[in-house]
Amino acid sequence: MKIFAELVGRGHEGIYFASDAASGLQAIIGVHSTVLGPALGGVRIRDYASSDEALLDVLRLSEGMTYKAAAASLPLGGGKAVIVGDPTRVKTEALLEAYGRAVEQLGGTYVTAEDVGTTVEDLLVVATQTEHVTGLPVSDGGSGDPSPATARGVRAAMRATSDHVWGTTDLGNRRVAIQGVGKVGIELLALLEQEGCTVSVADVDEERAETAALRYGAQLVHADEILSQPCDILAPCALGGVLNDRTIPELRCAAIVGSANNQLRGTGAAERIADAGIAYTPDFIANAGGIINIAEELRPMGYSGDRARAEVERIFDTTSHILARAKHQGITPRTAAVAFAEERLNAQGAG
Ligand code: NAD
Repeated sequence: MKIFAELVGRGHEGIYFASDAASGLQAIIGVHSTVLGPALGGVRIRDYASSDEALLDVLRLSEGMTYKAAAASLPLGGGKAVIVGDPTRVKTEALLEAYGRAVEQLGGTYVTAEDVGTTVEDLLVVATQTEHVTGLPVSDGGSGDPSPATARGVRAAMRATSDHVWGTTDLGNRRVAIQGVGKVGIELLALLEQEGCTVSVADVDEERAETAALRYGAQLVHADEILSQPCDILAPCALGGVLNDRTIPELRCAAIVGSANNQLRGTGAAERIADAGIAYTPDFIANAGGIINIAEELRPMGYSGDRARAEVERIFDTTSHILARAKHQGITPRTAAVAFAEERLNAQGAG
């Protein structure tokens, strides 16, 4: 990989490699931007096929965090870290401690948090070596698992999207299809059940999907069929890249609002969704609830659940603004959202 071309092309400030022979740590920390504040983002432990793949992931994810924080009007920049290896095999206390020391060496430029392959309990181990860690358990004065806040943010984005498409914020009559009932998906399902939505769910973990469907009276759909399920709102809450050349022609929804990061794959995906007459609420707008919740932990007065909940609801206004702006300017919501985030970054950069 042409590393510097990638860094310059995406506008990264720095990439840091950390290794520790004793624990086997192999980590890459990406700092995309500190223009608005310290670069905050989770640490992902994953069995990457190559170091290039790990590097590309950290470059892409840290860049996304910059836009997410900027669009959510947070005083934070974008960062992300990856640790190479299967979490079930490599994750030990020694490895997490070594990772904590690597974060500490960056002196607060990067602030770490939970992500795929890590838990809030893991962060407690990291926190023995560095103070630059967020998303600690509530019992330790932290904001805890961000997933419920992410789900509430997705619901706020759904209400705004519903207002844009159907002229009502009431989700009660909507048919929603949720792809993935993991940490966020299950919380979203619970919220939508309270709203009176008709929900269908799917998960590659069939037992998980079945349990969720039974518990909340949702319709169970095969994982291969959830994206083409006829519905009002499709909620991708599993993986990135699910909206691509193959799946877009099969969509049978009026709107897409979900938590998965980097949902669009391939050039022109946002345009093709718009051409199909589907309202797409950009992932980094809809799924900002988790980082908004975590950002509350960094306030000088400490974390307040009530304040965090109120802040997360502001995703309604941001979504309304982005969708209206896209319509007014004849651009895709994704382009509108990126422009919105860049305006904040540029204003700060100039100020
Ligand atoms: P998770 O791992 O708990 O849940 C993901 C679920 O999706 C799992 O149950 C998994 O079995 C399922 N899944 C995987 N591939 C699937 C497929 N092809 N079809 C159907 N189901 C599939 O993860 P999570 O924390 O719930 O996050 C979900 C998504 O939201 C991820 O993309 C994550 O990056 C993003 N996100 C999460 C948060 C958060 O607060 N947890 C915040 C922002 C963004």
